[in-house]
Amino acid sequence: MSVLSGVGVGRGVAAAKVLKMPEPLAPPSDEPLAAPVDGEHQRVQAALQEVAADLNARAAAAGGDAQQVLEAAALMAQDPAILDDVKARLEGGANAEKASWDAYAAFREMLTAMGGYMAERATDLDDVAQRVVARLRGVAAPGVPVSDEPFILIARDLAPADTATLDLEKTLALVTQDGGPTSHTAILARSKSLPAIVGVVGVLDALVDGQLVIVDAKAGTVVIDPDEASVTAAAAERETRLAAASAPITEGALADGTKVPLLANVGSAKDVPNAVELGAEGVGLFRTEFLFLGASSAPTVEEQTAAYTAVLESFPGKKVVVRVLDAGADKPLAFLNDAHEENPALGLRGIRALRASEQILRDQLTALANAQAATEAELHVMAPMIADHEETTYFVGLGKELGLASVGAMAEVPSIAVLADQVFEVADFVSIGTNDLTQYTMAADRQLGSVAALQDPWHPAVLRLVKLIGEAGTAAGKPVSVCGEAAADPALAVVLVGLGATSLSMSATALADVRAELLTVTLDEAKARAERALGARSPAEARQAAAS
Ligand code: PEP
Ligand code: MG
Repeated sequence: MSVLSGVGVGRGVAAAKVLKMPEPLAPPSDEPLAAPVDGEHQRVQAALQEVAADLNARAAAAGGDAQQVLEAAALMAQDPAILDDVKARLEGGANAEKASWDAYAAFREMLTAMGGYMAERATDLDDVAQRVVARLRGVAAPGVPVSDEPFILIARDLAPADTATLDLEKTLALVTQDGGPTSHTAILARSKSLPAIVGVVGVLDALVDGQLVIVDAKAGTVVIDPDEASVTAAAAERETRLAAASAPITEGALADGTKVPLLANVGSAKDVPNAVELGAEGVGLFRTEFLFLGASSAPTVEEQTAAYTAVLESFPGKKVVVRVLDAGADKPLAFLNDAHEENPALGLRGIRALRASEQILRDQLTALANAQAATEAELHVMAPMIADHEETTYFVGLGKELGLASVGAMAEVPSIAVLADQVFEVADFVSIGTNDLTQYTMAADRQLGSVAALQDPWHPAVLRLVKLIGEAGTAAGKPVSVCGEAAADPALAVVLVGLGATSLSMSATALADVRAELLTVTLDEAKARAERALGARSPAEARQAAAS
């Protein structure tokens, strides 16, 4: 029995044999074209058609969101402009594989330069290019393995097209060598409630297809060749968890009855039915910028009033926390971020960008006040990336001037934690965005796999900052919420409550696990776990300390 470690996502456990995802193909050689152009052009054309047919067949079988992603990829495979470009490259002397590969790369660059939604689709082109070259080479296309037996998928990382086509009936867990807690794999795992471990160094070399492992997301471990007793224990834990998922939906509370409202993170009204069905007691983070990612000009007050009203009207008498536009870095909005910056994560983003275009902020706050007046929801509005008392005073002042009842700040920049007592002098509430708070505390890009180990909200440095905010909130008698991904990790959710969080907000699919875990501890026990985690020397030690 040997053990590999990585960053666990969720809390599930699974025991099964592994299947490895084929490695991506090696790039084509630079060998010059050795066959007539027309014949090679026809060969590429046939390969493109076969790839498109295959993608369309997989789209029909997948259904739902995955169907759209795959159909879009099939369309890209058949784009006549690409075929023309391939021909030009063949005529320029490139071999068929190289001509196809480079034509897709050029198309990808063009889409990336367009930004927004088109740039997001650009990564899907890599998958299409790999499939075309595999056809030309006569080898198996890369992609998720298919099996009649349940299995644990081992991969370098998963692309959107892979995650879209994964057979979730058969896939019990995901393990990736690359990727961090905010990678595509982690997002998929959370949204499907699958246990996953990301960033497991050496896992591809350590395992062969068919080898038995236990994946324990809570511990962040992959146990290779486990003994029988461990497999039986893992199976029992899995059963318990499945039972929790189908337990009746109750309000979020600890074992001693302390209420901890459990809210959902949403990006638009489209996400609301699922959140309500899974028992969300309201919305703890409405990411309004998601509505306008592709827009080239600022949305109007009318358009925004309609979008916000559509969410608020589903929650009469309940809390809905709306974040004003969080533009910049990983979420650029063309109408707010027009200047090139070397370090956009440290640039004019969040509240800074809104302040530089105050009319856009005023319009959004006006639209929110309209939605507040038009519905029965209890609206709270917060700004992203607030750094100190001065910024809080500015934002709260403007929100109140425009008619909002409750105005607060997101805690994502470490300075706000250090100054939390001052911030609570003016803010009605604080909501902690642990994704960015971790990124800035550890100076580790949240999108970069190579620093994923540092991008861990269990880090004692992050926990100590959360404690400062929790204590200041308690002293001020004001609510402290957590709306970053940390709240979706059941064991960490308990620690966050122990540190002073009064409500938690997460992807709706995480609600059942967190609800079940909170019911197992009293407030005193949550505080004791938090205390132990605060004294840890590393994220791994903090996890262990909280569990022991
Ligand atoms: C966060 O940073 O934790 C957060 C909730 O905001 P986002 O993930 O949208 O940046
Ligand atoms: Mg953030």
